[in-house]
Amino acid sequence: MKCTFCGTDEVVYVRPYDKIALCKEHFNEQFEKRVKRTINRYKMFQRKDKIAVGVSGGKDSIALLNTLVKIEKDFPESEIVAITIDEGIEGYREEGLYYAKKHTKRLNVKHYIFSFKEDFGYSLDEIIKKLGERGGKNRAYGACSYCGILRRKILNAAAKTVGANVVATGHNLEDEAETVLLNIIRGDVNRLGRQSPYPKKVHKDLIPRVKPFRLTPQAEIVMYMVINGLEYQEVACPYAVEAYRGNVRNFIFETQNSQPMLSFNIVKAQDKLIPYLTKNKEETKGKIKSCKICGDPSASEICKACSLKEQLSNL
Ligand code: SF4
Ligand code: ZN
Repeated sequence: MKCTFCGTDEVVYVRPYDKIALCKEHFNEQFEKRVKRTINRYKMFQRKDKIAVGVSGGKDSIALLNTLVKIEKDFPESEIVAITIDEGIEGYREEGLYYAKKHTKRLNVKHYIFSFKEDFGYSLDEIIKKLGERGGKNRAYGACSYCGILRRKILNAAAKTVGANVVATGHNLEDEAETVLLNIIRGDVNRLGRQSPYPKKVHKDLIPRVKPFRLTPQAEIVMYMVINGLEYQEVACPYAVEAYRGNVRNFIFETQNSQPMLSFNIVKAQDKLIPYLTKNKEETKGKIKSCKICGDPSASEICKACSLKEQLSNL
């Protein structure tokens, strides 16, 4: 087999959805081109942006940081910084932090570390311990729900602290497809609209979030890491087994074997629905509420993080 672009024999990857064969050089070229196209399509960045990249130390975030640093070289007025959120998961987070530090140093990117413990008062381990067994009287959700609520809040606050005006995260194509399906499964059409890929300032204190890997399949991110010799944390979080997402994720990857366009199609469907879902919605007019306790953007009077804090203080 020969590289579709240059004809060399040294093919490293064949894309299952269009059968394009790629040598290392053209794999990297196509990979970066797609990220640039995604950024342009959804108008993710402006020329003078200070971009905070959420770096966990996993493959997606390291690949994203690497790619954005390369792309950013053509935009000297912008700046990239990295933020790592330490959830406080013993035996897991340490390794991610190690890789986050290693790559930000190599790429000469300023790295800021924030933690649940410092900013919220409890580490994730402590929260789960206090709440008890899932399904018990104090805990309705899997650990990832609490983790997600706090990570979003702290990442937003961290971005404000470091003066960033946009946050980029490493969510890939399948992550996005999964989120779309989950919102449909839960019947949460509003959220489907709220999770628009276009950065929007919907609240004065909410830093817009973008996902430059929205159209990049996970398999290509893994390949990017491997062929460029980039190390990352491979072990999964001990709480990942609790995720409801798991079922949907398995469905996506299994179905994708016979229908390689599946995730692209799901994400494209959301893109087509967005204009209908966001029309006349309060959120898109900057009228999202502020939490009565912390002032952060919130869908209800008191944000989920403040409700959780209250619950924990009573346990
Ligand atoms: Fe948090 Fe769940 Fe991710 Fe673990 S798997 S870091 S608990 S969201
Ligand atoms: Zn609050």
